[in-house]
Parts: sequence; structure tokens; C-alpha cells
Amino acid sequence: MKLCRFDDNRVGLVRDDGIRDVTSVLGALGSFQYPLPKFDPLIEALPRLRKQLESTSGKAIPLERVKLLSPVANPGKIIAAPVNYTKHLQEALADKGIHHGNLVQEIHKAGMFLKATSAVVGPGEGVKLIKTDRRNDHEVELAVVIGKKASSVKKEEAMQYVAGYCIGLDMTIRGPEERSLRKSPDSYCVLGPWLVTADEIPDPGQLSVRIEVNGSVRQDAHTSDLILSVAQLIEWGSSFYTLHPGDVLLTGTPQGVGPVKPGDTMLAAIERIGSMRIVVS
Ligand code: MN
Repeated sequence: MKLCRFDDNRVGLVRDDGIRDVTSVLGALGSFQYPLPKFDPLIEALPRLRKQLESTSGKAIPLERVKLLSPVANPGKIIAAPVNYTKHLQEALADKGIHHGNLVQEIHKAGMFLKATSAVVGPGEGVKLIKTDRRNDHEVELAVVIGKKASSVKKEEAMQYVAGYCIGLDMTIRGPEERSLRKSPDSYCVLGPWLVTADEIPDPGQLSVRIEVNGSVRQDAHTSDLILSVAQLIEWGSSFYTLHPGDVLLTGTPQGVGPVKPGDTMLAAIERIGSMRIVVS
């Protein structure tokens, strides 16, 4: 199942011929009172809403006509793997424009970091760069959306905690500051074009990942080259903190990161998920 959010907070079921508006299912989420839950209510409810969602009929809205938002509205946290492809580690070590004298280490030593949830946008909202006197890079990544509360999960069981996948762009200002600052401005975390539920992607370690900027291929890689797999990242992350439904795990970017500037258009694609176009301003 492919589920998107679009236009003015509508929810859509995505099929080959377009989107069916399924916003009415939100009525089944219940109402929450302060303090609000730490999870995303729609992602948490997906297992029990699935039948109803999939039986939706009616007229399809053409994809080109909608503005796609992030498929997860309220992620509790955005966890990100910094250097999880060997060739990206090599390019980061070789290019001062990337490392800025910061210590760059492989993920086993560097650990993971958090991006602010306020950075999240969908592809239809675009990326608005700040600090344009500095290098602003694209990083295309497989994004994993957690479906169930997970704490100290072993890698052998980790995949049961995945709700689905989407494409993530970990937009980054290069410079000397902490990653969490440079990667967290508003719109610096693009998620989309939709959530593909885990049953449609039996092995997230077998997906091609690519991004073009203005029609030129910048990153073209494969998740079989991930240093830590999705299951290992969940095991590691959940050994530090509880993962909640709707938490997003960015699995790291492959080689080929590079700068974008206002006016550019990015086209990001991951096998079995789809593609998304993002305008940079
Ligand atoms: Mn990244």
C-alpha cells in the first residue's frame, strides 16, 4: 500500500492511476488531549485501518495535480546515520568542502544524530535554502518509518517494527558546526513522495537510490552497499532510545553529495518507492 498526504492535509491512497482521497479515515484516530502522544497517530493506526484504506474506490486525482506533503505528519524524532556508505566516507575524508576539519568517522564510531522535526517538508513544499554563501548539499537516503514502539530490539526481530519506507533528503549546510544544527533548518528534511508499506519492500538492502539535479545524475548507488543495514540501525538506535510509531530513520547517504542553489530542481528516486521532484529556492 502507498499512502500520501497532499494539498491541505488530505490523506491519499496512491495507485497507478492516481490518488484516492481517504482523509475520512482520520476520524478513526480518536482525539488526543494534552499532553499529546509521542507518536504519529496515523502511522500508529495503520495496521487497523489498512483494510478500510485498501478497499477505497472512487475517482482518482491525477498525481500531477496535487501538492505532496510529508507522508508522516508528526514524527517524534528524525534519527540519521551520518556515514553509512564506504564510498561516501572516502569522499568526505578527501574533500575539505565536506568535512571542514570535523572528525569524519565511519558510523560504528560516529553514532547517529538527530534532525529537528520542524525541518520536515514534503516534495511539493520545496527546499528553501538559508546561508546561501555556504555550500548547501543534497543527500538522498532511504528513509525508514517506524510502525511500533521499539526498545532494545535485536536485529533479527527489527524488521517487524517497520511500518514502511519513503525517500528522504537530508539537506545539509557544510561548515564547522554540529551536524544537528546544520541539517535542521526549516525544509532541510524532505520526506516523500509517499509511504510504501513494508510488505511491498521485502528487502530494503536491495534498492537502487539516485538523485539528479537539473537533469544531471549526482548520486547513483544501491542500498546493498550500506555499512549498517536497516535491521542493524534499528537495533543500535533502539538500544539508546525508544522508537515510536512515526519516528523516521534516515539510513545515510551514498557517494556523490554535492551543492544545490536557488532555482535548481532535484529529482530523487528509490526503487520500489517511486520518485519525487523538489524545487530549491
Ligand atoms: Mn545524511
